[in-house]
Amino acid sequence: MVEIARRGLMLVLSSPSGAGKSTLSRLLLEAEGEQMVMSVSTTTRPPRPGEVDGRDYHFVDVATFEKLVEEDALLEHARVFDNYYGTPVAPVEKALSAGKDVLFDIDWQGTQQLAQKNPKDLVRVFILPPSTAELARRLETRGQDSPDVVARRMAKAGEEISHWAEYDYVIINDELEAALDRIRSILRAERLKRDRQTGLVKFVKDLMEGSGG
Ligand code: 5GP
Repeated sequence: MVEIARRGLMLVLSSPSGAGKSTLSRLLLEAEGEQMVMSVSTTTRPPRPGEVDGRDYHFVDVATFEKLVEEDALLEHARVFDNYYGTPVAPVEKALSAGKDVLFDIDWQGTQQLAQKNPKDLVRVFILPPSTAELARRLETRGQDSPDVVARRMAKAGEEISHWAEYDYVIINDELEAALDRIRSILRAERLKRDRQTGLVKFVKDLMEGSGG
């Protein structure tokens, strides 16, 4: 098979919490194997039970976070609820240059910043829940957060959803496997974009020379 070198893409999945984004991200990473890496964000939010530092997030205090912002070490950053979240820049550029795609679980504020900084590498996907009732049910049964946190997330969901039109693709997560398949279709097509296929220039040059053109 002919392999053409390519630059990786930045795949952003945004959604209100409870739309099934974490599960979809996990399944997507499993399915894509070495072709895709997850961007591990830095946050000032305390870890939830079961979360591992360096895997789920880099957990830092506010002073450390502010230092990272000053040093320009974050590709984007935002305040979500009462905490700060940001994307470390170095691992992202390393992966993209190596031809690997990077998956981001960031909110609309971060997505807007990426669109300003890296529009060419960016593919934005918004995930919607199938209904308000289903969204509420998923937030309640998650069981990791206190009732007032759940209520605030529900209120915030409307705000997050209002940004749906800033995304390139919108997926309704009515059925997990189907939603995963839709995201993978987007990936397959986006990977074929001419600009991402950095090895094409040489390939086509060789083709033309070989054909005497
Ligand atoms: P959680 O606290 O539930 O893990 O995340 C809360 C929200 O913060 C989610 O909507 C998630 O997408 C967003 N988020 C997580 N990491 C980042 C980040 O690095 N940047 C931005 N802008 N948002 C993030």
